[in-house]
Amino acid sequence: MNVPTQMQAAAKNAEGGWRWDKAACRFCGTGCGIMLATKGGKIVAVKGDPAAPVNRGLNCIKGYFNAKIMYGADRLKQPLLRIGADGKFDKNGKFAPVSWERAYDEMEFHIKKRLKLLDLKVLEYLQVGNILLWKDMQLKK
Ligand code: SF4
Repeated sequence: MNVPTQMQAAAKNAEGGWRWDKAACRFCGTGCGIMLATKGGKIVAVKGDPAAPVNRGLNCIKGYFNAKIMYGADRLKQPLLRIGADGKFDKNGKFAPVSWERAYDEMEFHIKKRLKLLDLKVLEYLQVGNILLWKDMQLKK
């Protein structure tokens, strides 16, 4: 496709000061290659990586929205734990922010409890493409 010279110049001007780097989309298990443009330490653009054999330059909608999702106002930045009136984990309690240390301690406690209850020695899991990001990250830690 031929792009008029004026438009090419305008596009180049608009990208002034951008730095493009390779990255991988983390929003499912496919692992598509993406290109991230940054300026002033912030992501300003995302596009598919044409050199990535997995996706050959194309991404799904989640891939194209990597930056918007990363800077989303409702993005969780610390763990939330359901806590009861006594300050302890309560499956029916309200979500409250906790430290990463407490979150991992709680997970370790409940996973070990479950393994003991089921008389199991290991925990295996199967990841599917539509797993939520935070669940995926929890499982891989
Ligand atoms: S969410 Fe979309 S772009 Fe990201 S790895 Fe999965 S298929 Fe690729």
